[in-house]
Amino acid sequence: MSTDFDHIVIGAGISGLGAAHFSAQRGRTTLVLEASERSGGCLNSPHFAALDNFWVEAGGHTCFNSYGNLLTILDDLGLTAQAQAKVKVGYSLWQDGKRRSIVSALHIFEALRSIPRMFTAEKDGRSVADYYGSVLGRRNYQDLLRHAFAAVICQPADDYPTEALFRRKPRRKEMIKAFTFAEGLTTIADAIAAQPALTVRTKQQITAIACDGDGFRVELANGDTQHCDYLTLAVPPDVAARLLPAGFEAAHNLIKPIGMAEIETLALVLRSADVALKPLAGLIAVDDAFYSAVSRDFLPDDRYRGFAFHFRPGVLCAEAQLERACAVLGVSPQRVAAHTHIHNRLPALRTGHMNLVRQLDAALAGTRLGMTGNWFFGVSIEDALTRSQAEMARLFGA
Ligand SMILES: Cc1cc2nc3c(=O)[nH]c(=O)nc-3n(C[C@H](O)[C@H](O)[C@H](O)COP(=O)(O)OP(=O)(O)OC[C@H]3O[C@@H](n4cnc5c(N)ncnc54)[C@H](O)[C@@H]3O)c2cc1C
Repeated sequence: MSTDFDHIVIGAGISGLGAAHFSAQRGRTTLVLEASERSGGCLNSPHFAALDNFWVEAGGHTCFNSYGNLLTILDDLGLTAQAQAKVKVGYSLWQDGKRRSIVSALHIFEALRSIPRMFTAEKDGRSVADYYGSVLGRRNYQDLLRHAFAAVICQPADDYPTEALFRRKPRRKEMIKAFTFAEGLTTIADAIAAQPALTVRTKQQITAIACDGDGFRVELANGDTQHCDYLTLAVPPDVAARLLPAGFEAAHNLIKPIGMAEIETLALVLRSADVALKPLAGLIAVDDAFYSAVSRDFLPDDRYRGFAFHFRPGVLCAEAQLERACAVLGVSPQRVAAHTHIHNRLPALRTGHMNLVRQLDAALAGTRLGMTGNWFFGVSIEDALTRSQAEMARLFGA
């Protein structure tokens, strides 16, 4: 069967775009098919045309100089020099309807007593609650860390696997430590998608995949069909489980139980003059309807300030979310200059996940099917790209 593309990647989040980039770099003709209207997935910087294109990060907001695979892509695209340092502003806790310092929730003597365990405690196979409760103390975990971690992964953190939360990665020291771009992190997704070496098509919902000779047949909701020799799934685990073709039952059974966290994000913009709150990186909610609120203060603007509130699902309706966010920011909802609601999704990993990934890799070994995402090593952009790079090396050679 003749195919237009050697390799089709399904999903144009950073995992799929990264896989496509690494595939195209290996000389494979590569097509990315994305269900939504835009590429980027959780990299989403909505711009507000009526407000001089001021933007807010509704998903991922920070890259670090430890993101080696990302930096390689930025080098390839000539984007590295355009990275912008984030202004240093701190996070606060949001508790009992008030902003509090993070230090105020720390039980310092308990931390000092527990910290030596950090040098000997094993992370692997342990939940976040178990590991951090042990190395920083139970009260520190209950009063501070569980909220901070829930704010990072936008879901309850207690049962999350420790080794998937923060992974140590070597830093590229000549590079800015924490960075973004003048137009936000969608700059990265847009630049990968725009390169002539690969093709990205949006509004292409994949409904089914079948094995076809040595390759695959991909069926789209619009009735189209595509054929390819190699296929990579770069979609959330529930979608991957649904799309896996017959013949991949072992992989299907492994990934089907992986849960997803649904996140109701509200991105809103206010005129700077209307917000009395001192500049801040964001709020970590201890006892509210949202997990966290991330501000745009890391790249200050004279006229506007932006915030993304990441709400727990199904707690408040859209209107009540806007009211809640305004109450937290101390402004009247009438003063909101612009806002938008976005549905984010992140994997809800559980202890034992790394063992599951090992079994999944064994089930995929020797096949022409790649699988990547933010649900292998961890949710960060670099964790996703690490998996994408490894899968492209498996399919096409190092
Ligand atoms: C609020 C928030 C803040 C974050 N902050 C940071 C941060 O500061 N730094 C950091 O490193 N990471 C951060 N992350 C994590 C990181 O942004 C994400 O884990 C990563 O961008 C996910 O990329 P992905 O490609 O694996 O998945 P996704 O971005 O979810 O992409 C999957 C894509 O698949 C598409 N798709 C689904 N089904 C189909 C189908 N049937 N057919 C075709 N396409 C389909 C989807 O539309 C989507 O575009 C954050 C995440 C969130 C939600």
